[in-house]
Amino acid sequence: MNQANNKKGYYGQWGGAFIPEVLHETFVQLNIAYQKARSDESFWKEYLQLMSNYSGRPTPLTFAENLSNHFGGARIYIKREDLNHTGAHKANNVMGQGLLVKRMGKKRVIAETGAGQHGVATATMAARFGLQCTIYMGEEDVARQRPNVFWMEKLGATVVPVSNGAKTLKDAINEAFRDWVTRMDDTHYVFGTVCGPHPFPEMVAWFQSIIGQEARGQIMEQHGSLPSAVYACVGGGSNALGIFQGFMNNNEVELVGVEAGGKGIDTDQHATRMKGDRAAAGVAQGYKTMFLQDSDGQMLDTHSIAAGLDYVGISPILADLGDSGRVRFEAATDQEVLEALELTMKTEGIIPALESAHAFVQAFKDAPRLSHEEAIIINMSGRGDKDIFTIAHSFDDPSWKAFIVGRGDEYRKSMGE
Ligand SMILES: *Cc1c(COP(=O)(O)O)cnc(C)c1O
Repeated sequence: MNQANNKKGYYGQWGGAFIPEVLHETFVQLNIAYQKARSDESFWKEYLQLMSNYSGRPTPLTFAENLSNHFGGARIYIKREDLNHTGAHKANNVMGQGLLVKRMGKKRVIAETGAGQHGVATATMAARFGLQCTIYMGEEDVARQRPNVFWMEKLGATVVPVSNGAKTLKDAINEAFRDWVTRMDDTHYVFGTVCGPHPFPEMVAWFQSIIGQEARGQIMEQHGSLPSAVYACVGGGSNALGIFQGFMNNNEVELVGVEAGGKGIDTDQHATRMKGDRAAAGVAQGYKTMFLQDSDGQMLDTHSIAAGLDYVGISPILADLGDSGRVRFEAATDQEVLEALELTMKTEGIIPALESAHAFVQAFKDAPRLSHEEAIIINMSGRGDKDIFTIAHSFDDPSWKAFIVGRGDEYRKSMGE
């Protein structure tokens, strides 16, 4: 499922592999290794074992009884990707690519990271597999995301701040490709989501399909029939495609992707590529998709309260599923996200990541219109602990402010200022 419709890696008009000539051979090798792994049952078995022993899979499907009662409509189930090692679905992808790296016999991995979550996941995988690891990160992001940079370094990775361009994610991606060109023989680029040149979208979607496989079995067991709808937030699109694949061939299951509405899709501060009028077809970072860009093709600044959804492009697979109408796209604003988060924490004792809370927003809008016999699934891509700085700031919590100021004072004193 979800394999590209031809060798060049197109999904409808989207995708492809726009790569520099020097990387051609590397991509040929990667494709061969990936196809071999995909047709080798022992690879998937080894992957399942690894994910169960190291990352807590299968993750539970939790019936959210209190939320269901609160809205009085559909039975709401939550797929708990937050219970993965490192706290999100990203582990599914990096551990899968790690196994592939082992099979390819390479010794070094590189990755790009924006908010730092993919960097931490990759550094974790590299430590476990004994691989050298270099993470490219925009200088701006290094400054904003110190806790994740700290962990990457403690996990043994080298973090390289990128000072080109806007000093954020897209500049880090360019720099990672530059590195790869110089060290193709011993290095694999662990791409973070279902974007980039073929075969990355298809390969990452394959690793993430473990979410949908589990969720399908779990909902059949717990609810006895398929859900009416499945909700997932969409940054690059990997957690969404992961769970959607479990239900793709059942047209009666509505698939809903929720993008970052930021301050509102009518403003210039959001990251919705499938809604609104700020995105257009383009080729960048090795693939063709809908990019947020101006009329000269310059990438636009994006905004979301959730760092992981703050991205200019979208998976070519999802762009195609949007065209065909198989996936319905919605957007959730920062404000709606905070409200959904607060309700979920207080009613269920569960703290979704800000990214995941986008999916909750749309599910909460739809649930009251459905019957008690129907079920819906929300893919909770990650846990919210990582977001404490942003969430505490957004709720304008005075004791949190006092805590931060107090810590600052302590450090200033200890540094002799
Ligand atoms: C990175 C991240 C996302 C966005 O990535 P996708 O590829 O769209 O899944 C969503 N949720 C969490 C918790 C993340 O860490």
